Amino acid sequence: MSALKLDGKELSRVSEDSIKNRVSDLIKKGVKPTLATILVGNDPASETYVKMKRNTCARVGMESIAVEMPDTTTTEELLLKIQELNANDKVHGILLQHPVPSQIDERKCFDSIGVNKDVDGVTCLGFGNMSMGIDAYGSCTPAGIIRLINHYNLNVEGLNAVVVGRSPILGKPMAMMLLNLNATVTICHSRTKDIERIIQNADLVVGAVGIPKFIKSNWLKKDAIVIDAGYHPEKCGDIDLDGIEENASAYTPVPGGVGPMTINTLVLQTLESAEKL
Ligand code: NAP
Repeated sequence: MSALKLDGKELSRVSEDSIKNRVSDLIKKGVKPTLATILVGNDPASETYVKMKRNTCARVGMESIAVEMPDTTTTEELLLKIQELNANDKVHGILLQHPVPSQIDERKCFDSIGVNKDVDGVTCLGFGNMSMGIDAYGSCTPAGIIRLINHYNLNVEGLNAVVVGRSPILGKPMAMMLLNLNATVTICHSRTKDIERIIQNADLVVGAVGIPKFIKSNWLKKDAIVIDAGYHPEKCGDIDLDGIEENASAYTPVPGGVGPMTINTLVLQTLESAEKL
């Protein structure tokens, strides 16, 4: 049997249409949903990500405000800018592009974003609320993955889920979201022993490692659900998807799986923030 392809490209396209309609309804009521993006320094990859996020805002009729700060910016200067945006009633969401230059205390800056404007789901408070099942904006990549899982009606309750990676924006929130869906969750990281054996028992695997094809196709259990969050210049992810259609029950393609859902979730959560006013 051929595996179910979890098509993030298509789901995000359909979602954009519905977001566009909701944005237009809000604009008629006098509210223009607005995302402030903060880019510190001139890392080319970060510049590209911010540009893609602002382009998506424009496509759905949302406003975006581009804040660009030099790579010599201090923590205090960035905190001041975030406070200014927190206080601006016209701004519904704040995105601080990760990573910031090393002299900046990134965690402190993330946590200074008001939780009601934390549409990228990066604050400790937002993470804590989400983990406790309290309404919160999820970190966009794992929240986008959960939207894919729900859209395709995959029931993860009771599944043995393995998340490879424990970063604050991806692996950790992913694990908590799967736990909240009643999966039994194992988190692997760089000190984990015998990852291959752990993955061989997984009914659901999330690759969030940042190493091309780190998870080998022959480690995957037959009929597992395979989610690949990675994306590398060689157009592959963190999982070797060779033969995936014959062996998995469902999988995310690379590209066109998890990636498009991330930006779509950011825009959706900005809209939700604007709708709450
Ligand atoms: P990250 O911050 O670099 O974290 C990588 C995680 O992988 C860490 O927890 C690390 O463990 C673990 N790891 C590294 N080497 C390992 C090894 N040999 N064995 C087991 N675990 C290992 O990366 P990230 O930001 O979470 O991103 C992960 C992947 O997702 C990347 O490919 C990135 O491009 C992709 N991503 C995609 C999107 C999207 O929109 N599609 C968004 C964000 C990220 P330690 O904690 O022990 O160091």
